[in-house]
Amino acid sequence: MIFVTCPCPGRWLTVIMSLPNRFRARLSWYSCAKGMDVGSRVCSSAVEEGSMNYDIVIIGGGPAGLSFARSLANSGLRALIVERSGIDSLADPAIDGRDIALTHLSIKIMTEMGALARIPQNEIAPIRQAKVINGESSYCLEIDSAREAVDALGYLVPNYLIRKALFEEVVNLDNVGIRDETTVTGVRIGSDQAEVELSDGDRIACSLVVAADSRFSESRRNVGISASMLDFGRVAIVSRMQHEKEHQQVAYECFHYGRTLAMLPLNGNRSSAVVTVSADQAQEIMAMDDEVFAADVQARFNDRLGNMKLVGKRYAYPLVAVHANRFVKPRYALLGDAAVGMHPVTAHGFNLGLRGQQTLYNEIRRAQLQGADIGALSVLEGYERRHRRVTWPLYTGTNEIVSLYTNDSIPARILRGLVLRMSNNFPPVKQMIRRKLTELNGSDESLLPFV
Ligand SMILES: Cc1cc2nc3c(=O)[nH]c(=O)nc-3n(C[C@H](O)[C@H](O)[C@H](O)COP(=O)(O)OP(=O)(O)OC[C@H]3O[C@@H](n4cnc5c(N)ncnc54)[C@H](O)[C@@H]3O)c2cc1C
Repeated sequence: MIFVTCPCPGRWLTVIMSLPNRFRARLSWYSCAKGMDVGSRVCSSAVEEGSMNYDIVIIGGGPAGLSFARSLANSGLRALIVERSGIDSLADPAIDGRDIALTHLSIKIMTEMGALARIPQNEIAPIRQAKVINGESSYCLEIDSAREAVDALGYLVPNYLIRKALFEEVVNLDNVGIRDETTVTGVRIGSDQAEVELSDGDRIACSLVVAADSRFSESRRNVGISASMLDFGRVAIVSRMQHEKEHQQVAYECFHYGRTLAMLPLNGNRSSAVVTVSADQAQEIMAMDDEVFAADVQARFNDRLGNMKLVGKRYAYPLVAVHANRFVKPRYALLGDAAVGMHPVTAHGFNLGLRGQQTLYNEIRRAQLQGADIGALSVLEGYERRHRRVTWPLYTGTNEIVSLYTNDSIPARILRGLVLRMSNNFPPVKQMIRRKLTELNGSDESLLPFV
């Protein structure tokens, strides 16, 4: 009962999380009885007690959903994040092997949110140069940060630390609540409001539903939005390698025949290795002894970094790309991977998620300041238009790259080499690739390729 007039949800969360589970469950029950979400259900004091009405319900507390919630901080809009997993895994996410290459635009957004400062400096690794290799050739396409007069093309940050930092930013917000261990089972869209159905039987009314519920978004299907999906039939196996020689902060993308290998430079003599193979080979590679796996990566990387040792586990991600055919409906907007789920080769997935949440926030905020309905289709269409102009060329371009560089036929091998040489020797193409990788021009959509 003492939690009813909770003054600071973040502080209570800390207290509650240190309690044994049986007490947390009890507190959760008490808080529900009072309309307050605490512990396994976290809620803020600014959200009216007993109210099941919010301005915005965000489905999914992944990096996209959390970053959008963080953007709402000073808007005065009341939001609820509904997340399937538990509060412990949001507050302290497990390592998932992904090292996310953040562009300059993403670094700027994360800095402004305060989230970047929550990530230890020694976990942020600059990429100073990128090299792309085709087949067995020693020729490579080189992209250098020095040409843009910046110290890095981008920065590698572990995904679990991004999620942790964003959660820490959100959990203290007065206007955002989190309901964990709860699944959204349905979304109904009415003319004046939307209603979200939860796995515990509750229904939440709101002006706008923002679905950041992964590339396999159930709510997207639920509201009748179709999506183009491309199953590559391949799996990315990610792991961390310790190696003998320094990598000089150079990232490699090796489009070998039969499989691709990316080596992404972390701090110290460590790299994130991403081995992409067809799904039927993945199991065998996952089952290899650690030493055999490390020796295999070392040999395929032509011993460039000397002896290699596996650090930690290997993680497998089946590769499916998704682009929703619409991003919005009245009172409903798709965000993050639910809107666009990218193949990781061009490292744009979360970067697009961050950019998208900023675009969506700006449109909503403008409407709010004008006294307009934030869930109106005319408002959300602004987001759709702006975001699609950015995502569609990147999505189709990335898929074309994957399709060409996983094709080992003789004509394709010749074309692969030609494309690399043309990119290296034709300055406008090279500059376009560099700009796309770094997003140095911030949110300037007109500078994106093909637009
Ligand atoms: C190997 C690999 C490497 C990558 N490298 C990069 C990179 O270098 N750069 C980059 O920008 N991106 C990269 N990405 C992409 C990036 O990881 C994703 O774009 C990002 O994690 C997507 O975040 P999200 O919040 O949209 O979705 P998710 O992380 O999938 O989160 C969705 C959340 O919604 C919840 N949820 C789902 N359904 C429901 C429901 N019905 N009710 C309640 N909750 C629900 C889930 O539990 C989950 O927490 C990489 C991805 C992979 C696999």
